Amino acid sequence: MSTFLLEIVTPDHLAYSGDVDGLTVRGIEGEIGILAGHIPFITPLQVAPISIKIGQDYTFISISGGFVEVRKDKVVVLAESAELEQEIDVERAMAAKERAERRIGAKKRNQADIDFDRAELSLKRAMNRIKVHSHIHK
Ligand code: ATP
Repeated sequence: MSTFLLEIVTPDHLAYSGDVDGLTVRGIEGEIGILAGHIPFITPLQVAPISIKIGQDYTFISISGGFVEVRKDKVVVLAESAELEQEIDVERAMAAKERAERRIGAKKRNQADIDFDRAELSLKRAMNRIKVHSHIHK
């Protein structure tokens, strides 16, 4: 199987750059598998893990939204944030999850001036990081 260059870029750093055998991303309408020679396209991504296949190994990266662009020569993921499994501070993610859940709970009880959408997005990011940290893909 032929490999291709994958780059994952965030506003502040190059999170990943290397040759891969394939990757799976979660687009707005579901999972998309990308192999060498895939036709060029661009699509938005969900807050979800990306899995990268290199040889027989899989690496997971948490992505907080953005886009994937399949070009002729490489695949570029432009993400709002991206963390490799080993870069995730799981305690920070657990704290963010608890904070978001508390805010969502307060909102449901009609308490406080809470931005529900913001809390839900924060919860999604936290759960995504926890998932990637524990290697669970779905
Ligand atoms: P928090 O409330 O803990 O800041 P957040 O979801 O609001 O979480 P983001 O705004 O998505 O954080 O990310 C800000 C920066 O911090 C990004 O560079 C992101 O990669 C990093 N980051 C956020 N949470 C974690 C984490 N649990 N482990 C490692 N890096 C993280």
